[in-house]
Amino acid sequence: MYPLVEINGEKLRHNVKQIVSKCKEAGITSIFGVVKVLAGYQDAINDLISGGITHIADSRIENLKNISTKLKKVLLRIPMESEVHDVVKYCDISLNSELETIKKLNHAARINRVIHDIIVMFDLGDLREGIWYTSDYINFIAQIIELPNIRLVGIGTNLTCYGSVIPTQENLSILVRIKEEIERTFNIKLTYISGGNSSSLPLVYRKQLPKGINNLRIGEAFFLGRETAYGKNLIDCYQDVFILKAQIVELKRKPSFPIGERGFDAFGQVVQYEDKGMMDRAILAIGKQDVYPENLEPLDKRVKILGASSDHLIVDCTDTDYKVGDIMDFKLSYGGLLQVMTSKYVNKVYLHNITTP
Ligand SMILES: *Cc1c(COP(=O)(O)O)cnc(C)c1O
Repeated sequence: MYPLVEINGEKLRHNVKQIVSKCKEAGITSIFGVVKVLAGYQDAINDLISGGITHIADSRIENLKNISTKLKKVLLRIPMESEVHDVVKYCDISLNSELETIKKLNHAARINRVIHDIIVMFDLGDLREGIWYTSDYINFIAQIIELPNIRLVGIGTNLTCYGSVIPTQENLSILVRIKEEIERTFNIKLTYISGGNSSSLPLVYRKQLPKGINNLRIGEAFFLGRETAYGKNLIDCYQDVFILKAQIVELKRKPSFPIGERGFDAFGQVVQYEDKGMMDRAILAIGKQDVYPENLEPLDKRVKILGASSDHLIVDCTDTDYKVGDIMDFKLSYGGLLQVMTSKYVNKVYLHNITTP
């Protein structure tokens, strides 16, 4: 039943293998496979695992709790105080930046009789999570070291998420210097020096990752075959692992400009329309409840998306031979992938073993 998203497991595994092998050449010894966009979809997670990731990482406990794997599980989002018991129970490692929360994790870990591993996040300028890199982090770390049920296993940074800051040799070298200072001051060894996400891959491919960075947390590049610093395709990867398919329910020749007095569209927006004369307009049975139209790209270059309401997607298919009942294919942005994987209204079809050219 449509709409459905078709997932090519073989292409996914290929992407993971290529990126993992490039990372290994660049000195990366562990790779967190970031699966939050999959909403816990186990078949795809299994292919990430066979592709060579070393840890499963997600922002949400609900997903981590349900994923079945022998690999260690990593919570990416800074934990809520209200979830610390679940964090120590269902995750092996969590990323942290707040001392009060880390103390609560310590308490929860003691009650659950576990040692909980944490990676402390440093903000190098992107202004999402992490302690500011010029703050008194030595004092911060000293207080963590004293907690008996918490083990500091690494430090990390996140870039190109809020502030669009691109990872460079300069900013990642700051993280390496912080690592050296912490190891020297406390006479400890940090296992993970986590130098970012898919936006760090250009440095990996150019062999410019600073020595000392030994971990990356990769999501989008595996799924969409591109890095996220400049949005360039990775030449050795597939960009069409996920294809969204929707069915045409109406196709008629109509004007392109609405007739009559105009107010707002179905979502309360004032929309500008372009008069392109008569056109062949198809309505597909998919809408904003499934995915926002700006997150879709028709595979057929002749097709143009005109707009959508909650359950209808309208496209211009002038000079094509589509008819009612036909299926149209779309590529998805990362945001679109997140939406369709989360939606219960979009079926998932997993292709395990098909031969790809
Ligand atoms: C989502 C996320 C990632 C993965 O980012 P991609 O751009 O998909 O590779 C890495 N780290 C953290 C903390 C995240 O939240």
